[in-house]
Amino acid sequence: MTAKLETRGLCKRYGETTALASTDLEVRDGEFLTLLGPSGSGKTTLLQMISGLVAPSEGALFIDGRDATRMSPGKRGIGLVFQSYALFPHLTVSENVAYPLRMRRVGGQEIARRVVEALAMVRMEEFGERYPRELSGGQQQRVALARCFVYRPSVVLLDEPLGALDKKLREHMQLEIRRLHKELGATFIYVTHDQEEALTMSDRICLMNRARIEQLGTPLELYDRPVSRFAADFLGHSNILEGRASGDGHLHWAGGALPLPSDGPVPAPGEAAILVRPESARLCPPGPQAFFSGTVVQVVFTGADMRVMVDPGDGSEFLVRAARRAAPCQGALVGVRWDRQEAVLLRR
Ligand code: ADP
Repeated sequence: MTAKLETRGLCKRYGETTALASTDLEVRDGEFLTLLGPSGSGKTTLLQMISGLVAPSEGALFIDGRDATRMSPGKRGIGLVFQSYALFPHLTVSENVAYPLRMRRVGGQEIARRVVEALAMVRMEEFGERYPRELSGGQQQRVALARCFVYRPSVVLLDEPLGALDKKLREHMQLEIRRLHKELGATFIYVTHDQEEALTMSDRICLMNRARIEQLGTPLELYDRPVSRFAADFLGHSNILEGRASGDGHLHWAGGALPLPSDGPVPAPGEAAILVRPESARLCPPGPQAFFSGTVVQVVFTGADMRVMVDPGDGSEFLVRAARRAAPCQGALVGVRWDRQEAVLLRR
């Protein structure tokens, strides 16, 4: 696939603060790429440099292979959607959506046709005559999306567009935005700090940490093969077990000797850590088949299953997901094991 957009050594400093360290990133044509990371990790700065609202300190940006580093925002063919809907309060929904076309001096009939089409895309065709104050937050965000899509940008940047909505509406709008991405066929770059949102929506996730890219890959790659403790911890629930790797393929950890994953290179003896996802682990009787045993300190009902916390004896907690029928009682002595292949050796 060809690159729609590429940054080369793109970097932004504000005085002593590095908002984004030198970054190389290729965004593929038509993909849904999510910038995910904690607050302050540089997501918005990267997005703003792509949009042209912020000038880079160093580096270059290419759009469709052309150097766009100094191109004005209006010439980049990029649409923007923010968390605040930023609709004009004194204009109706239709007038709001028409606005970018009027700025581009599109003819009246053409505007009318495209406004209807854009409102239909976001399923708001009935609301053209209303004013923003007469709409719910979710409806206002749909209008903001329509106003962005109406001039058919080939790249759409979305900065936490669902941040202001409640959980149920967010989940509904996530699916809507995925559908719109398919319908438009444009490249979407989506900023969020919500890992669940990133996992459900993205073709690829660019995980950011401290002004740098921590890991770039598909949601499955990031979830199943995190490269670092930060990545393992940021996406999903994780048990990270730290200890000393020995030459015999074991990690000597506070709760016992654990088998290291057998795929991939064997780590050099020394400090090491493995990741075991709660859903990969299983409870078993304490005994020879258990990798370690411990005491159940907490059992929590979460709806679909039970979360069982096991203390291996050193006061730490290991989380296992168990079926309701198989959940033990608090205080029980249990064993824990997993498929050796499902543990991940963390290198950083
Ligand atoms: P994120 O979007 O991941 O929350 P940002 O890109 O907004 O992170 O910010 C990255 C870092 O750059 C933060 O430490 C932030 O305080 C700093 N920063 C962002 N914009 C400015 C600015 N205009 N002036 C000074 N520092 C800034």
